[in-house]
Amino acid sequence: MATINTHYRKLSAGYLFPEIARRAKAYQSEHPDAFLHKLGIGNTTEALPPAILEGLHNKIEKLGHVDTYSGYGDEQGDTPLREALSQYYTSFGVDIKSDEFFVSDGAKADAANIQSIFGDGNVIAIQDPAYPVYVDSNVVSGRTGSFNSETGRYDGFVYLPAHSGNNFIPSVPEEKVDIMYLCSPNNPTGAVMNHEQLQSFVDYARTHKAVIIYDAAYSEFISDPSLPRTIYEIEGAKECAIEINSFSKFAGFTGVRLGWTIVPHQLMCENSEAGELHKLWNRRQVTFFNGASNISQAGGLSVLTERGLSECRAVIAYYMNNARIIREGLQQIGLEVIGGKNAPYLWVKSPNGLTSWQFFDKFLTECQVIVTPGSGFGPAGEGYVRISSFGHKEHIEKAMLSIVKNLSV
Ligand code: PLP
Repeated sequence: MATINTHYRKLSAGYLFPEIARRAKAYQSEHPDAFLHKLGIGNTTEALPPAILEGLHNKIEKLGHVDTYSGYGDEQGDTPLREALSQYYTSFGVDIKSDEFFVSDGAKADAANIQSIFGDGNVIAIQDPAYPVYVDSNVVSGRTGSFNSETGRYDGFVYLPAHSGNNFIPSVPEEKVDIMYLCSPNNPTGAVMNHEQLQSFVDYARTHKAVIIYDAAYSEFISDPSLPRTIYEIEGAKECAIEINSFSKFAGFTGVRLGWTIVPHQLMCENSEAGELHKLWNRRQVTFFNGASNISQAGGLSVLTERGLSECRAVIAYYMNNARIIREGLQQIGLEVIGGKNAPYLWVKSPNGLTSWQFFDKFLTECQVIVTPGSGFGPAGEGYVRISSFGHKEHIEKAMLSIVKNLSV
């Protein structure tokens, strides 16, 4: 008799994006001539730059000839790509050995799977609000109690709320936790941790033999040189932190699919030897993963060339110009906005105590603009919406014209 993994029943989510779609559809059917501007989704829209296209084309060409064809590669990723990633980190003054990189088909799956190398009893701390995969992967693995619909929290998790009182950067936990998920630049708030803030988490982790899982998927959007681009800029981080990153937003690979995870040899936790967590992740990958697409990896290698980096950074600058247009428009009408300076997301406070969904409805019905309700990312997101700067500039400008003209605040 087969039984299901009943932890799945605890999941509260699956509600945010379907509900956005439902409300947008209902509005559209009542207003068939309305054009809905989408400022909600974190999906890239601009074409891949030429250097990357060349890399992809060349690899496809090679696959079409028997003497240059290649099949399965190493589960950990192709050596030239791992070496190029190591060089990329050297450019930030950080020394990560090429064999500490595990190339993946994207950050989301790694962020979901990484918990599998840790014991069931670990106490998990998460930033609130947060990208949902950190919470949900630990819920289905049985590390929580039930979802409490009154508090919007799962029993058993330690929530680290981000709010205006701490400039949207949580402090270290007051109690002892074992694993902490941090995301900087943050999705959804757009807040970025500075060296001192990140150092305090690293110090906490070393003191308590905890592990930080650091999602740096938006690191390329940091333009302020004083902000850390990787957790390994922080002293002691190699002993206590795993970093996950992605080519998705960095290089427009949301559909191409490529990412990486760094598990340093020095990483340790309470009952492990140095090197053991690295070996466990290696074991996990060779057992359950057959490597990222060799075409994607060739594209990734092109991203990391001088020309590739400069072309990808030009696309990022384009999105960040969108972020500026959005921020200035929202501020013009008196809204409180954070993010959008070193991150592609803007976090906008609802005026007059509106809930996230009430503010969402206002954007939809008054301006025909779709945003994302902050409460969908965790209870501390209540009273905010997230706006994304991914989109064509002309669409962003039209949406902002509508907001500035029509939103009553
Ligand atoms: N991490 C964060 C914080 C994200 O916002 C996203 C995507 O939106 C991801 C990871 C997923 O990245 P990937 O496309 O590499 O799976």
